[in-house]
Amino acid sequence: MKLLQNKTALVTGASRGIGEAIALKFAEHGANVAFTYLSSEERAKALEDKLTALGVKARGYKSDAGDYAASEQLANDVLKDFGTIDICVNNAGISRDNLLLRLTPEQWDEVMQANLKSVYNLTRQVIKPMMKARKGSIINLSSIVGVKGNPGQSSYAASKAGIIGFTKSIAQEIGSRNIRVNAIAPGFIDTDMTHYLKDGGGEKWFEKIPMQRFGKPEEIADVALFLASDMSSYVTGQVISACGGMNT
Ligand code: NAP
Repeated sequence: MKLLQNKTALVTGASRGIGEAIALKFAEHGANVAFTYLSSEERAKALEDKLTALGVKARGYKSDAGDYAASEQLANDVLKDFGTIDICVNNAGISRDNLLLRLTPEQWDEVMQANLKSVYNLTRQVIKPMMKARKGSIINLSSIVGVKGNPGQSSYAASKAGIIGFTKSIAQEIGSRNIRVNAIAPGFIDTDMTHYLKDGGGEKWFEKIPMQRFGKPEEIADVALFLASDMSSYVTGQVISACGGMNT
């Protein structure tokens, strides 16, 4: 059964990792997919081809999620090209991990802009067409680290905790318009973002994960599919952990 037939989804940061898995999962379920990337031009083109081969309309846009004007332009472009935005996944994100004494103001600002301001930037745009349509699902990628904290990740954790506060507030603001806003809090997922953990002796991370393994991007895409679809029609303002049991 295809869960997203006739819907249009906008996914930020889909050239790699979790965003790419979400874009593919949504297309497999019949959604037309607009997605963004920052610099991975070739990977974005390859994804556009893969999505189109699944029989849906797809287009990649080079757009900096941390830039307000670019996000406004992006939403306008997607509306022009696709006619509607039913689902928005704020997935683009970065980490610049450092112990606080070494964490520079520039690194702090970079993470806040890419991870937290980005969610404000695009959500503010997509709720306009969603309000008109009186429906919509917004999914924000938080992290287990935003729930629990993690040494060496204060900026990342603060940005991801901020996403949770934002998600819960906007869910309350626009619930009456039938627009749902939820967050996913993944644990350690096997992508470019976490490869350094494995390279630097990943075994100690496995000790913290009851399921004893990193998650796969597709396992996060499954949660996003549930939140995007009408299967979650009465779910809003929630943070769904997908972390192999780390958040227990
Ligand atoms: P990733 O493999 O590093 O991929 C990041 C994606 O975001 C890429 O497509 C990148 O585009 C894009 N991106 C980065 N900054 C951007 C910007 N300013 N504007 C537009 N696109 C931008 O990361 P990931 O592991 O898939 O993580 C995806 C999301 O899940 C992030 O929000 C991350 O914080 C969150 N998360 C990840 C994990 C994990 O363990 N991996 C755990 C919890 C939460 P380019 O390819 O063009 O650079």
